[in-house]
Amino acid sequence: MALHRLTPIEHSPVLSQTFGANVWLKREDWQPTSSFKIRGIGHLCQHYRDQGKKQLVSSSGGNAGMAATYAGRVLGLKVTVVVPETTPEFMRQRIKQQGAELIVHGDAWDIAHERALNIAAKPECGLVPPFDHPEIWRGNATLIAEAAEQMPEKPGAIVVAVGGGGLMCGILEGMHAQGWRDIPLIACETHGAASLAASIAAGKCVTLPSITSIAKSLGAKRVADEAFAWSKKHPVFSHQMGDETVKSVCRRFLDDHRALVEPACGAALSFAYEPPLEWQKRGPLLVIVCGGSVVRLSDIQ
Ligand SMILES: *Cc1c(COP(=O)(O)O)cnc(C)c1O
Repeated sequence: MALHRLTPIEHSPVLSQTFGANVWLKREDWQPTSSFKIRGIGHLCQHYRDQGKKQLVSSSGGNAGMAATYAGRVLGLKVTVVVPETTPEFMRQRIKQQGAELIVHGDAWDIAHERALNIAAKPECGLVPPFDHPEIWRGNATLIAEAAEQMPEKPGAIVVAVGGGGLMCGILEGMHAQGWRDIPLIACETHGAASLAASIAAGKCVTLPSITSIAKSLGAKRVADEAFAWSKKHPVFSHQMGDETVKSVCRRFLDDHRALVEPACGAALSFAYEPPLEWQKRGPLLVIVCGGSVVRLSDIQ
């Protein structure tokens, strides 16, 4: 049995008005641990369980670590999450509350990750990366298979937030399995975390020098090679916006839909709230509400 839930598809009257055509929301914020991550990471963790692994190791202090911890608890596997000192206290607590062993190591993610790699070198351990793994993409693809059954009309465009591109790869895999090769994908990133946009502009996969956006879940300095490869074989349109926009969009979404989502998710929602002129009314739009745990009300106020 899959670890993720079948999430609702919801028609949004408010966003349909701001966008100018039907807007459908895939409510991944309703997943266990509040983000889509459990689809792909849950799938990878089950794969490890089937291989006889006894322990899962993650180096994500964000939603990937949360999903790995949840998956391990349900599957009966030990979970170790190694995070750097920069991981906020409230996220350390949330990960521990889910039942993981938390190790705080080093003053930057790379150093914590090295420790995670060392632990995961033991044969009984499975390393759980945040986005760059085919099993993760396969799990994320279930989102589109579900949406295709649930939606009363074929989408005219699909909107997704892009960090390292694991969600994007899964969505595109699912779209192609569905025969949706002609539907444009809108890849949303904030300024300061736009590693896919930089790669598309450069014509090759590039690494950003640093991440300067508040949308931490989009903060991969480099996207998976697979994500960049998709941008060459599918109509992928890059859309960017600033931190102030995503914060105000999160506040509006909280009022309109009574749900608190991360700035990362606000990046995708902003396409429907503040559509670029050339896309207005080009619906029906399917927006992946990716959700996220790494947010408190005070962060968007
Ligand atoms: C991980 C995550 C993203 C980005 O997903 P990638 O697979 O890294 O592109 C976006 N939003 C939320 C809430 C996330 O947890």
